[in-house]
Amino acid sequence: MTNWAGNITFGARRVLRPRTLDEVRDAVASATELRVLGSGHSFNRLADTAGDLLSLAGLPRVVEIAADRRTVRVDGGIRYGELAARLHAEGLALHNMASLPHISVAGAVATATHGSGVRHGNLATAVAGIEIVRADGDLVTLSRGDADFPGAVASLGALGAVVALTLDVQPAFELRQYVFENLPAASLRAHLDEILAAGYSVSLFTSWTGTGIDHAWVKRLEPFTGDTFFGATPADGPRNVVPGMPAENCTEQGGVPGPWHERLPHFRMEFTPSSGEELQSEFHVPRSHASAALEAVAGIRERVASVLQICEVRTIAADDLWLSPNHGRDSLALHFTWIADTEAVLPVVADLERALAPFDARPHLGKVFTSAPALPRLADFAALARRFDPAGKFRNEFLDRLLP
Ligand SMILES: Cc1cc2nc3c(=O)[nH]c(=O)nc-3n(C[C@H](O)[C@H](O)[C@H](O)COP(=O)(O)OP(=O)(O)OC[C@H]3O[C@@H](n4cnc5c(N)ncnc54)[C@H](O)[C@@H]3O)c2cc1C
Repeated sequence: MTNWAGNITFGARRVLRPRTLDEVRDAVASATELRVLGSGHSFNRLADTAGDLLSLAGLPRVVEIAADRRTVRVDGGIRYGELAARLHAEGLALHNMASLPHISVAGAVATATHGSGVRHGNLATAVAGIEIVRADGDLVTLSRGDADFPGAVASLGALGAVVALTLDVQPAFELRQYVFENLPAASLRAHLDEILAAGYSVSLFTSWTGTGIDHAWVKRLEPFTGDTFFGATPADGPRNVVPGMPAENCTEQGGVPGPWHERLPHFRMEFTPSSGEELQSEFHVPRSHASAALEAVAGIRERVASVLQICEVRTIAADDLWLSPNHGRDSLALHFTWIADTEAVLPVVADLERALAPFDARPHLGKVFTSAPALPRLADFAALARRFDPAGKFRNEFLDRLLP
């Protein structure tokens, strides 16, 4: 059994698929070593174990909208694609989505997965409540405002099995997605902040073979009216974010208004997202260092381009979640879709980490990285994990290396 990318073969001795909460509690209480698997879209050994791998995909689907229509309670196995369609049918929306709707909500929240937008926190910031089956099989509920809550949301599966989440929701809305090509380097240097704030969500894509941005994907509430976007020209038809991949795999473009959940992700639920043959890394730097960090990557552009399919630049608002790469700072995220060749990619990732080190770059913990991440609340999180799981049932090699 492998992860989605196929670069990780799980070492678990068996996979358990509980169908009820009681079965989850029994499986957790009786295990000596286990990890919960979401939809398997992470690129490293984070979800791996030599013991039991627990998939919650078979739990009954829960989508319970609160009477005041401000929150929704969902089960620990649901994927964003299914949740988003159900919410939209009820006239409700999430504040943001990642590039793909295929991932599980619990798995995405566990790694602080994000979309883009200068005013939007990552997906974990929508969590208002979390229900966790701890190592001893007890069910613990934490809500926003509880002391342990900011440590328990993006928890990398280290505290237990998340069987339900309560998420903030808002009224459904429409967005228009525009793709612009060839954004000049001079324009990027002069107007970076304006460009990144020019839509509800903005993503800039570059292959690092030229000096500018190959294409800008701008998701807006209002129609776009100009002839050019900071010097970039509107694409003459639909595009895919990954060079060479079919445009039909991507959500509708050309400024056609449509539901939030069919514009915020780049990829459509019914197609393979991204290229499918790839590795991914991502590094978050403070927004105040955005230009300097981009210059630093430009300084090793040939090295980066040699193993790159595409690089995406996004923004995320600050939060207070202990393991979030956006903890305490508005961030610029530099994402890299690499070729599917671990041996060739790892030395380039190490070079990139060296280039971004002066900017206190923090890795996306669900992707490929080589250096120990310096997250300010790691020691607090390690203490919380010890309280929830004193015998270390939910620990694995990845967490042993990460946590002090
Ligand atoms: C094509 C592609 C595009 C991507 N795009 C983005 C993007 O736009 N933005 C971004 O930030 N990331 C992106 N990612 C990364 C991805 O969102 C994260 O790796 C995310 O964590 C994957 O969710 P998952 O459900 O597959 O979790 P998994 O990879 O299965 O697990 C991740 C972690 O969550 C834990 N976990 C899962 N479910 C539970 C549960 N119920 N209880 C307790 N712990 C649990 C696991 O133990 C593990 O530690 C992308 C990945 C791919 C493959």
